[in-house]
Amino acid sequence: MIVPVRCFSCGKVVGSAWEVYQQALKDGKSMKEALDECGLKRFCCRSTIMSHVETIDTVGLYQ
Ligand SMILES: [Zn+2]
Repeated sequence: MIVPVRCFSCGKVVGSAWEVYQQALKDGKSMKEALDECGLKRFCCRSTIMSHVETIDTVGLYQ
């Protein structure tokens, strides 16, 4: 749905990293470079952002 505000495992705020991450990927950076740019060091936070799929626009059509 929407990007998780905090990491599910450690509780670090990761919601603000989403826009930075998307922009970095659009600029042609690799996933690793994009996550490094967001300042996410722990693998739990990285996987929270990496595995997120934005579906809010699709789900919104059926409400
Ligand atoms: Zn974490």
